[in-house]
Amino acid sequence: MLEIEDLHVHFHTEEGTVQALDGVSLEVGYDEVLGIIGESGCGKSVTILSVMRLLQSPPAEIVSGSIRYEGQELLNLSEREMNEIRGDDVTMVYQDPMSSLNPVLTIGRQLTEPLRAHTDCSKAAARQKAIHMLEKCGLADAERLMGQYPNALSGGMRQRVVIAMALVTEPKLLIADEPTTALDVTIQAQILDLLRDLQKQYEMSIIFISHDLAVISEIADRVGVMYAGNVVETCSMRELFDTPLHPYTRRLTKSIPRLDTAVDRLPTIDGVVPELIDPPEGCRFASRCPEYIGDVCDANNPPLNPPEEYVDHSVACHLYDEQTEAEPPWMNSPTK
Ligand code: SF4
Repeated sequence: MLEIEDLHVHFHTEEGTVQALDGVSLEVGYDEVLGIIGESGCGKSVTILSVMRLLQSPPAEIVSGSIRYEGQELLNLSEREMNEIRGDDVTMVYQDPMSSLNPVLTIGRQLTEPLRAHTDCSKAAARQKAIHMLEKCGLADAERLMGQYPNALSGGMRQRVVIAMALVTEPKLLIADEPTTALDVTIQAQILDLLRDLQKQYEMSIIFISHDLAVISEIADRVGVMYAGNVVETCSMRELFDTPLHPYTRRLTKSIPRLDTAVDRLPTIDGVVPELIDPPEGCRFASRCPEYIGDVCDANNPPLNPPEEYVDHSVACHLYDEQTEAEPPWMNSPTK
């Protein structure tokens, strides 16, 4: 459904050019949930804002690459053509429900607007559809809700309204950018359940972004791990936990608290993400990598490739280069 290929995005700032995305490639299939995981500033949101063509330019510039939706190159579309896809076929749920709702418009107005803009629905039919979608999203008394303003609702209800707004046009692809981060844990679980149910009912695809691996593991079929503007590993959710290949991914999976193992402190990753104004020539994780293997890591940034014997599991790390003699660390890993 969606193919992002070798995407390079820069931000031109007074301090210099930030190389925010450096050759990002990802794919989302039909009826599939792709999770994108990574720490703040790794390029998750820049990737999906590029897909939606919502990056402000300047300072942002899509330098090169391709984003194809159902075979159509999104980067070549006019703003009017893009508007026909955005909000109809492809919609988005943002992190903070309060800032994605207009405080001076009623819920009803905000829900019927996309239907009126993208379909030839009458006003009455749009209203009925909006009420139906609010009910689908678990909101009781949807008729009354239609006349209310966002400030009358709790955080959890607002996020359900935002999800209803994103789904009211029955999109093929929903992009959810940290949709549960601003919510408490109980509401977070309810919203994840809701998204999972709706994904099955409407057979849509979802790109779900989070910095929280535990949250991603609840919903995603496949996952892309990002670090400092690169995708460093892609695989199924199961493989991510069973055989994580990239040293960064392995550290991430180890930093999740487990009920069956008591530890005083969870492992952390020493060091900081490199400056993207002047990123290293080689692997961007090299300064923090516990499995650094020398000059080859500093010489060039490893491309994302499937190692031998792996299908649909790719990693960007010189440990898996054919000529590297070092034994891949997972050979001794208790997870393998
Ligand atoms: Fe570590 Fe080298 Fe692999 Fe980068 S390429 S993750 S520095 S082993």
